[in-house]
Amino acid sequence: MIDLHRRRLLAASGNIILLAGLGRAHDVWAQPRLEGYPYTLGVAAGDPQPDGFVIWTRLCPKPLEEAGGMPPRAAIVRWEVAEDERFSNLARAGEAIARPELAHAVHVEVDGLKPGRRYWYRFTMAGADASPTGTARTAPPADADSARLRLGVAGCQNYESGYFDAFGHLSREDDLDAVFHYGDYIYEATARRPVGTADEHGRIRARAHLGQELYSLDQYRRQYALYKSDSDLQAAHAAAAFIVSFDDHEVDNNWAADKDQDGTPAEIFALRRTAALQAWYEHMPVRRAQFPRNGQLQLYRRLDYGRLMRLHLLDTRSYRDDQLCSPRDKGPCRTQDRQDGTLLGTQQEAWLARGMEGGRRWNLIAQQVMMMPMARTGPDGRRTSSTDTWNGYPAARRRLIEAIEARGLTNVVIASGDAHHHYAGVVPARDEEPDGRAAATEFLATSISSEGDGTADMTLSAQLLRDNPNLKLHNQQRGYQLFDVTPAEWRTTLKVMDKVTTPGGQISTLKSFVVEPHQALMHEV
Ligand code: FE
Ligand code: CA
Repeated sequence: MIDLHRRRLLAASGNIILLAGLGRAHDVWAQPRLEGYPYTLGVAAGDPQPDGFVIWTRLCPKPLEEAGGMPPRAAIVRWEVAEDERFSNLARAGEAIARPELAHAVHVEVDGLKPGRRYWYRFTMAGADASPTGTARTAPPADADSARLRLGVAGCQNYESGYFDAFGHLSREDDLDAVFHYGDYIYEATARRPVGTADEHGRIRARAHLGQELYSLDQYRRQYALYKSDSDLQAAHAAAAFIVSFDDHEVDNNWAADKDQDGTPAEIFALRRTAALQAWYEHMPVRRAQFPRNGQLQLYRRLDYGRLMRLHLLDTRSYRDDQLCSPRDKGPCRTQDRQDGTLLGTQQEAWLARGMEGGRRWNLIAQQVMMMPMARTGPDGRRTSSTDTWNGYPAARRRLIEAIEARGLTNVVIASGDAHHHYAGVVPARDEEPDGRAAATEFLATSISSEGDGTADMTLSAQLLRDNPNLKLHNQQRGYQLFDVTPAEWRTTLKVMDKVTTPGGQISTLKSFVVEPHQALMHEV
């Protein structure tokens, strides 16, 4: 009914009012006059469906000032979605309200579009230049046997660690259907050393956050404004729809459900998490299903690309048991001894298992932290694993492997991040047999900037490869990955930056791996 009504409105007039279902505010500013260009943070699209996607912007004439330089009034913004870059054939158009409660962010769930097609979108207001133009592609029809799909994978963009040129390069990749962002979109903490100096690991502080560690809603908002002022990040958003997640640094390093890493009482940490997740929602191109409520939000969700691929986006933060040896105990922890523990929570685990029965050619589990077994031998000869990844929750990993095997699936690919290096490897069916049969393949994408320039010297990885026979590649540079998916093969390409601590870094292809859907194996091509 609503859709029909909207179509009639659209047909009747080029100047219609679609308020995106949000209702009228009492004091809506129909002809806003702003002190400066409103779209300093760019535009974004997200979560493609066959009939549309989300489009996003935030009115923010003075990004680093209080309230982004906006007066405390709701304002009307017009939006347009066109079949061509010059906006001569409008497909949909309407108006939305940018509200001060949401930092004047606008999320429009555009529908009524054709499947499997590229569109262009922009925002306009009276008395101001139009926003930059973004482009996004709708997903193919639900029953389509699509021939191809191309996804970018990126995340971990510490502003202080380097420049975002990798995002500029990603924006120029051909034919992107979407970008999966695995999280660490902002970092909450600020380095204490001067810009231009290095820490004890040789990591240079390339740029400076504005203040100290984030706790309040306004501080988180200003951090998003700082990051989103970056032209390379804006270019990546303008080039393709993003399918966004969050990891720990959108809130606090290594948070776990209602616990932070410092042992803060849960009800006090909840205040910080509530502020952080509101700011995340405000700045991400997500649907109303992800609107925060009571300090939580529904991050995990599914997106289908016809019959070719089902993307299961997980939330490995909000429902997990606390990390072993937390807080602040740096001693060795035998994660393999942990017989229980959940990373996804019972409900999400069941949701994921059910969803893999969809009969798609590929199942992509798009999530945050490393799933494959990974141990490092320390100088004392002791083998340790991260307690923050699936390695800290081996029982949860075992249950997921059982769910994959019970359904006879050989087509599960894991995308992850968080580790700031590229890793390609397999998740073995049994932890004790890392070179045995595999249950899934995993591609962990390195960071955009976090940890700085890194090194192209891959001989440093030899020990790690020896220690972990399920690991096929490890590289310590910055960059991103590309997934080229067809019914016959999954091809992952690892891209690396020569430098990020000064602007103008160049991208190159490190390696490509191919997976076939009938066996969880990868080979280099
Ligand atoms: Fe990170
Ligand atoms: Ca992380």
